[in-house]
Amino acid sequence: MPRKHVYFFGGGKADGKGEMKNLLGGKGANLAEMTNLGIPVPAGFTISTEVCTYYYQNDMEFPEGLEGAIDAAIKRVEEVMGRRFGDSENTLLFSVRSGARVSMPGMMDTVLNIGLSEATVKGFVEQTGNPRFVYDSYRRLIQMYADVVMGLEIDEFNKLLEARKKAKGVWHDIDLDADDLKALAAQFKAKVRELSGRDFPDDPHEQLTGAIRAVFESWNTARAVSYRRLNDIPDDWGTAVNVQAMVFGNMGEGSATGVAFTRDPATGERTFYGEYLPNAQGEDVVSGVRTPHPLHLAQKKEGDPSSLEEEMPEIYAELDEIRDKLERHYTDTQDIEFTIQGGKLWMLQTRTGKRTAAAAVRIAVEMEAEGLIDRKTAILRVDPDQIEQQLHKRLDPNAEYEVLARGLPASPGAAVGRVVFTAQDAVAWAEGDDEEKHMTILVREETSPEDIDGMNASQGFLTQRGGMTSHAAVVARGMGKSCVAGIGELQIDYAARRFSIGGTVVKEGDWLTLDGSSGEVIVGQVPTVDPEMTGDFATLMAWADEFRQLGVRTNADTPEDAARARSFGAEGIGLCRTEHMFFGEERIKYMRAMIIASGESERRAALAKLLPFQREDFEGILKAMEGYPVTIRLLDPPLHEFLPHAEDEIEELARGLNKDPEVIRSRVDDLREANPMLGHRGCRLGITYPEIYEMQARAVFEAATKLAKEGVDVKPEVMIPLVGTQTELSLMRELVERVAHEVMLKEDVEIHYLIGTMIEVPRAAIVADGIAQYADFFSFGTNDLTQMTFGFSRDDAGSFLKDYLKKNILRRDPFRSLDRRGVGALVKLGVEKGRETNPDLHVGICGEHGGDPRTVEFCHHAGLDYVSCSPYRVPVARLAAAHAVLKARLKALF
Ligand code: PEP
Ligand code: MG
Repeated sequence: MPRKHVYFFGGGKADGKGEMKNLLGGKGANLAEMTNLGIPVPAGFTISTEVCTYYYQNDMEFPEGLEGAIDAAIKRVEEVMGRRFGDSENTLLFSVRSGARVSMPGMMDTVLNIGLSEATVKGFVEQTGNPRFVYDSYRRLIQMYADVVMGLEIDEFNKLLEARKKAKGVWHDIDLDADDLKALAAQFKAKVRELSGRDFPDDPHEQLTGAIRAVFESWNTARAVSYRRLNDIPDDWGTAVNVQAMVFGNMGEGSATGVAFTRDPATGERTFYGEYLPNAQGEDVVSGVRTPHPLHLAQKKEGDPSSLEEEMPEIYAELDEIRDKLERHYTDTQDIEFTIQGGKLWMLQTRTGKRTAAAAVRIAVEMEAEGLIDRKTAILRVDPDQIEQQLHKRLDPNAEYEVLARGLPASPGAAVGRVVFTAQDAVAWAEGDDEEKHMTILVREETSPEDIDGMNASQGFLTQRGGMTSHAAVVARGMGKSCVAGIGELQIDYAARRFSIGGTVVKEGDWLTLDGSSGEVIVGQVPTVDPEMTGDFATLMAWADEFRQLGVRTNADTPEDAARARSFGAEGIGLCRTEHMFFGEERIKYMRAMIIASGESERRAALAKLLPFQREDFEGILKAMEGYPVTIRLLDPPLHEFLPHAEDEIEELARGLNKDPEVIRSRVDDLREANPMLGHRGCRLGITYPEIYEMQARAVFEAATKLAKEGVDVKPEVMIPLVGTQTELSLMRELVERVAHEVMLKEDVEIHYLIGTMIEVPRAAIVADGIAQYADFFSFGTNDLTQMTFGFSRDDAGSFLKDYLKKNILRRDPFRSLDRRGVGALVKLGVEKGRETNPDLHVGICGEHGGDPRTVEFCHHAGLDYVSCSPYRVPVARLAAAHAVLKARLKALF
């Protein structure tokens, strides 16, 4: 039997259902589901994602039988709606919209009012008695069709619209009358002919086919591709196309259109949260061109226009009931679109509501309390990657500042950056050499999907127009960036690159601070503070801890970082990079003296000066992590990195060390390497200069024994980097053990410690059985392991990885998310072989990947004991580790 391509819905019955998102897209599946629930949905049909895939695989041809199936579906819609497509007496119009498996807001195309032609326009005027509305719909159709289907320059049409408003001396589209709009439609048609050499199609069926094609093709527009890249959506999913009977919110009195969330998408509060516009079409609300009205009384603030609850109380009550029904049915917050046509309510869409991290956490915890979902579901409802937002900065409550303006608090968190006015500038500044300009605030009248890359590059957005559901607000919440929207008095002069609010002028490059939680805009840089983990967030994290099996540690080199990570729930340090400790003013002097030394005794003398500093560092960190393990890695980078290179610095060092500058220069030259990352670094330094590792080990054990005597519970773990052979490790282990015993004997105190190694050279993973005989633990250094497995320099790969991602050679940046097939196979091999000879081997990961949720899931399945990541990623890893357990259970069930 040939595959079914077209799925009808309407009149309380649908061919599809909610679970069929892969085939019908999110929107199509939900329209079917709502129809089946008895919610009033205008009839229509969904053309499946398989048709999209077929279309791209077959030279933009549709599969056989599609046209017939579409015709049959049109007939069913006509029956349910009691109108006919192309009929001038009883006119049925269609909207044609995209709908992928997951929502890609504003990224793909839509065409509305399909079916208006010379003949039906006239008839429709008679049927509605509202020529203004009909001509407005007609000119919108021509304009959208010209843009989306014919690919003509939209600005050309906007210019005609603006010119007409100017000639008439009006500001808003709504002030143009039927004659204006009729004339405009004629002008638009002439423009189509002028720009394309073709006529705007008058045949409704031709319009429909063109629109369906265009929506399928919008799957591959640059902005849609960009969005998929940023959100990790595979290119081969394709989009479905929804063709649905039009209902009109712009039919005059008693008509309106709106969008709403069943709970507040910014805070998660259980309140109906929405906006509507009387006498308008959906895009007017979303594009932010007119400032919307509140939905109900409680939401209304002083000066707001009247709410739907006041204007149409019965409709509001019906809508509120549907809100409840949808939440109970989907057991999640919904983002809905509705239209009221001549006093009748129609639901156009429901989908899972996008929300800020704070809202996601609150909704999950509250829905568990309401009994809508269980604890496991609540945990799975919060995206680990998203919660880092929750840890984002707030304005320092003690800071004093003057508020320039207050807009809508569209996406919470504080953002500080320099003003730019275009998305292109935001990208160019972020990528430019001038670090001072990397942080930007994008200021626009409104944003559009084309701005997506620039929005990603900037810290926050400020817009003149738009409400909580405007493009800027929705995208900001998705990205976890700060956004203040709808500042009416904001006047932007794009040409002069400045804006003004009241009498204050702010120029491109000036510092600006946004508080997306309060809507405040402040000129200059306001200090920010780190957030705390309390309330619902702490509850959710505690639930995650009940389920996860992986330990979560942090990478930290200072007592401050260690303390912050502890407050985020870190259970120890997985990597303390000691090289960072040698750069302080005093220390670098001795470090350089040690490197320049002409022999071992001179080197030892310099190391003796460094010892007290190191001891103090370790003392601070061990204390901050009391009761938890602290993995201290011995020196890793090539020594060349510590030497001065500028002539004046060389001279200064020579003076300080009482040496000839020539000696320094020649040592700098000697240490220069063609491939320093593959050079004299890691344990190779300990092999050549055992006294360096001796000093570090001594500092570790002197600090640990001192604290132990004071009653502090210390758990030091000494880690040897870049091991590739078992003999390297056996030699270094011997050295560390000797020092440990010396110190413990001298101090007369015994402490428990471990010695282990990093696995970051592919060979180490392959011969892990040998290495594990000398290791108490392994820690996978996946930064170096990725570098060496791919042969991609971790410092230079950025320049070509972009192309690898664009061309789909790689799906993800392997330095951010572990390459499971390649590098991951080495990790698994290392774990297996290591435990063969040392069943007690403790295993973790400390590369940047340790805070990436996909990698955390992999680590869970690969049998690691813990992951270690930067302090801010600790909660992300805790939640991701719980997800790994719960997802595996779900998989086992189905
Ligand atoms: C690693 O290589 O993964 C690692 C953690 O070490 P570093 O980044 O310091 O080389
Ligand atoms: Mg490394």
